[in-house]
Amino acid sequence: MSSLDHDQHLHPSCRDKTTVTSDSSDAHELAKQPLQGLKLASHAVLEEAQQKGRLKCSKCGGSRMFFCYTCCSLVGVTPQDIPLIKLPVKIDIIKHPNETDGKSTAIHAKILAPSDVNIYTYPCIPDYENEKRVVFIDSTWNQTNKISTDERLQDLLQVELKMRKTCFWRHQKGKPDTYLATIEAIYYFLKDFHEHCLAQEYNGEYDNILFFYSYLRSVVSKAKTSAQKC
Ligand SMILES: [Zn+2]
Repeated sequence: MSSLDHDQHLHPSCRDKTTVTSDSSDAHELAKQPLQGLKLASHAVLEEAQQKGRLKCSKCGGSRMFFCYTCCSLVGVTPQDIPLIKLPVKIDIIKHPNETDGKSTAIHAKILAPSDVNIYTYPCIPDYENEKRVVFIDSTWNQTNKISTDERLQDLLQVELKMRKTCFWRHQKGKPDTYLATIEAIYYFLKDFHEHCLAQEYNGEYDNILFFYSYLRSVVSKAKTSAQKC
């Protein structure tokens, strides 16, 4: 667990004031925009899609923007428009059945790394006896224990990322800011895996897993700023 927990201070995102050496107005700007510094594909395509507004998903007819979280397909953007990421490990995400699909960030991983990510809804989970993958639990924190204590997961090494701080705009009230959104947990895990398990220097290889997350976060942050000005 501990090897996955250190080096938070090296991370370019989620900067705090101690890592920022520029003048105070810049520092203030960076503190407001914690996902700056990631190596991301251009968000222009998402800006264009956002201007068009919500569109109907061609599969289920639901009103969606960018992607359909029910069908796991793109809406208003094409596969060529978004980055496709190859991961160093296969990832399974086990979703609590009460978790609202539209609020979960797990779907971002499936859309951006479709060949390496699978999502299951608890209690339907794969057999991990002969194959160890990395398994993430996608649920509110109050529901996590039920899944993590499931006997079928007890043989897996369990890791909780405790040192990273969330940038999630849907941060759960009353929970510490080290409780991460699922996509943040996946991102930090991949970065740690690259540096500590593959022993390679991290050069933003998996930053695009935050492609949607960082865009949505910037939209929410802009909306908050303009609301404050009113
Ligand atoms: Zn759909």
